[in-house]
Amino acid sequence: MGDQKLKIKALTWSRESSGLFDYEKSNYTQSSFKLSESSYLLRTQEKVYSHPNDLNSSLTENSRVLAVLIKSAKNFYLTPFKSLSDKSITVEKPWLVVKGLKEHEYKISEGDVIRLGKVKIKVKEIEVLRKTEQKNFPVHSKKLYNGGLGSHFLPKTERTSPIKMDYITRSEDEYFHQGTMKITDREELCEQRSCRICLSDDTNILNPLISPCYCMGTMGLVHIDCLQHWLKSKITFNSTQNVKVYKWKSLECELCKFKYPSQIFINDKNIDIISIDKPQGPYIVIETLTEGFNTMSVVSFDNKHIMKIGRGHDMEIRLSDISVSRFHAQITLKSNGFFLEDNNSKFGTLVKIHKEISLDTDYKLQIQCGRTLLKLTPKKPWDCFSCLFGCNKGKDSDSEEMERFSKEYNEETFAHNL
Ligand SMILES: [Zn+2]
Ligand SMILES: [Zn+2]
Repeated sequence: MGDQKLKIKALTWSRESSGLFDYEKSNYTQSSFKLSESSYLLRTQEKVYSHPNDLNSSLTENSRVLAVLIKSAKNFYLTPFKSLSDKSITVEKPWLVVKGLKEHEYKISEGDVIRLGKVKIKVKEIEVLRKTEQKNFPVHSKKLYNGGLGSHFLPKTERTSPIKMDYITRSEDEYFHQGTMKITDREELCEQRSCRICLSDDTNILNPLISPCYCMGTMGLVHIDCLQHWLKSKITFNSTQNVKVYKWKSLECELCKFKYPSQIFINDKNIDIISIDKPQGPYIVIETLTEGFNTMSVVSFDNKHIMKIGRGHDMEIRLSDISVSRFHAQITLKSNGFFLEDNNSKFGTLVKIHKEISLDTDYKLQIQCGRTLLKLTPKKPWDCFSCLFGCNKGKDSDSEEMERFSKEYNEETFAHNL
């Protein structure tokens, strides 16, 4: 049987600079080797080498784990290193190099973390919706199962639904206890039941007094309306034609530091405490992960299909960090989704690898781990028998999986093709 071998070329940038790799310069330390068994890829200073698949055998003090390559019966898998209890092991997480892909582009899915220079952005939400205008053309009877008899409109809930934010630190169940059950406790405990913001004790079903955080006593209760207004005042907003940017330092209780979620569950209902306007056409919501503050950008592709990302003033999505090139990358709306492309940027456009990647034979892959660029080439030893009867190359299972994870999109409903 043809057994996959893995050719690895490693380039390590001589400078240690926040895990960046300079794609423009050429002062690298290079090493090449082949793998035929499961291995760890390690780096000590500038030297990259493989290590048998058990870390019990000694790791030298300065070595870092770059990637784990697991050999199965047929091929290799690249897996991110699962953290061990041993905290002394330093790990450089693997990132996919977008321009290293054969197609030079990557289809964005919800939950992707993209890195441009030092800036990380997270894709919170993707919506590729049909436009609202109605077209007067006949519907084919044999395609009626596909629907399309009604007029095009967007359900209101889809446009106003809240963005799920990740900083919910308590589960919904816990929140239910904290948010509603405790109110009844406090009815007995607190003599003065008034809102800590407006000081009023008026309460009704639409605007109840709730206990949203860990604060107790006179500071414990607040009207849901008052909380919403107060949170809104902490968010700064600005917009250009295609991008709406919401920025805030933190949405937490100033006293107990509890981070508020975007929704809370009261009286059998989810209530938004932070809502963000969504466009009617196709859009992406991205969150920029920077220290100090949060930025949420809603990028509308309604009348533009290419959005440039970079440090330059003419970019639709502006990232002001110096490690970001002036015109770093772009996102293009196509009939089957949003695609990310690198624009020969200095420090590259990378996508975080959260999952196992099955390495397909003869499909090269570039991975960046800190300041090391790994070029992986899976090869099958030349085998006359298997060539005669077809090499039996499987379908690319990863892209199929990616398809499943991104929102289904029907080309025929795309307004531009109508
Ligand atoms: Zn109030
Ligand atoms: Zn509090």
